[in-house]
Amino acid sequence: MITSERAPAIAIRERYQEVMSDRWPVIVRPQPDELLSSWAHRLAFANGVAPRSFGRVLGFSAGMWSASLDMNFQTDAINILTAHTGIPLPRLFAMSLKGSPLKRLLLPLRDDGRRLSSTWLQFCPQCLAEDAQPYFRRQWRLATRISCPHHRCGLRDRCPSCRSRIAVFGQLELVPQHFCAACGFDLRRASTSFISPKIRSLDRCIHDICRLEAITGSLLTNSLLRSLLAIPDFCGQYPMKSLVSLSTLARIRCFERLAMRPNDWLIEDDDAVVALWRRAILSADGYASLIGLLANALERKRLRLRPEKRRQPTTELSTLLTAYLRMMENPRRRSAPAEPAA
Ligand SMILES: [Zn+2]
Ligand SMILES: [Zn+2]
Repeated sequence: MITSERAPAIAIRERYQEVMSDRWPVIVRPQPDELLSSWAHRLAFANGVAPRSFGRVLGFSAGMWSASLDMNFQTDAINILTAHTGIPLPRLFAMSLKGSPLKRLLLPLRDDGRRLSSTWLQFCPQCLAEDAQPYFRRQWRLATRISCPHHRCGLRDRCPSCRSRIAVFGQLELVPQHFCAACGFDLRRASTSFISPKIRSLDRCIHDICRLEAITGSLLTNSLLRSLLAIPDFCGQYPMKSLVSLSTLARIRCFERLAMRPNDWLIEDDDAVVALWRRAILSADGYASLIGLLANALERKRLRLRPEKRRQPTTELSTLLTAYLRMMENPRRRSAPAEPAA
């Protein structure tokens, strides 16, 4: 090997460090609201391993290993991920759905192949198309989420080419996760459906109400989740069906019928403060971004708590409501919403 006197000695030290490090060659940073499974698939691809093989690296045999990781946060697999990427465990936990107060609204990890049945994950083709590295969001796992607030279109839950569900966990080829694992179709090219402003507003309000009541803990004691799950029956579109059992298309049909009714079913609650809070969110539709920021700040606070305290409400709903109304009354404070008064 020909060497030069001017060759930097540091090159040898860097190689030595690489050999000695436990870190995988490429580390990918989690994106905002990214699902743990989506990040794991991107990590696998960046390091030249197909998702199905990467599941074996983490100790899984087969099946929906990454979807299971989202739900169960298996310790052995998580220890491997954190040791080889340096991304701290609390950060990975925040990307998972383990212990989510919205667990009952999550789409089930199954697919019976019927056209109107749910699949486990939805996506917005335009979000994927705009991402520098396309990724799947946590909120796309919720049965109550039917549209994209950014692109004003309906979500999809199947490949438009072969009608398969999203099954990146079973991908044998080394391709990014936005290509259908069954037929190779680029999901970014999927067409989008129009969703009326009224239906999108209902979708967004339900999402905001759920997030805030999950954080305050009132969701555990009131009847909201039961009402949401019964939407297909309540709106008369699919009697006796649960919301989580239906495809995105079928749930959009339910929301279309629901939007024609008064919102009393959503507002009513035994607790007057809760009812007032819901009414405020529904009537302040234009301030959803503020509610989102408030919820984000509170959620960060929840995740900073130690695991044994995680289930405790971080603030009282009445305190939240007071803070919210105060911000609504004082427009100058709307631009600086980061930390709530609570
Ligand atoms: Zn989108
Ligand atoms: Zn396909």
